[in-house]
Amino acid sequence: MSVSREGGCSCGSVRYGLASEPLFVHCCHCLNCQRQTGSAFVINLLIEADRVELLAGEPQAVDVPRDDGSTQRIYRCPTCQVAVFSEYGRPEVRFVRGGTLDRPAEITPDVHIFTKSKLPWITLPESTPAFEVYYDSKTLWPAGSLERLRAVMR
Ligand SMILES: [Zn+2]
Ligand SMILES: [Zn+2]
Repeated sequence: MSVSREGGCSCGSVRYGLASEPLFVHCCHCLNCQRQTGSAFVINLLIEADRVELLAGEPQAVDVPRDDGSTQRIYRCPTCQVAVFSEYGRPEVRFVRGGTLDRPAEITPDVHIFTKSKLPWITLPESTPAFEVYYDSKTLWPAGSLERLRAVMR
């Protein structure tokens, strides 16, 4: 597996590499993401779980309650507790946290979601699709990404 992009936690115990480009990149402005990150939004790279290659360490799964009553499994470095990726229900797809990449500037969101709770001082670029809540991946994702998703959800 050739690794094109790498990232990790703050203490260096957990290092990961991404074996390909992500399926799609979310910038989520929901209140759960704001609380989890202590910030204005989260940047999530959606990618097949088997394309996240662990280079060092073993992230620890922590189930975190969400406002809708469900839980979200967040994987954290066991030492410094920085969250490197998470899952939303389906373990086949990981949501890699963009801020943990070595070069986060290389990633640009493909979509902004939950803009209904976006902090008012953030101005979104006109060129990127934005949705009050969620969107239909079938209409927005590139055909290649939909095909990759179908392959792992089978
Ligand atoms: Zn760490
Ligand atoms: Zn969110």
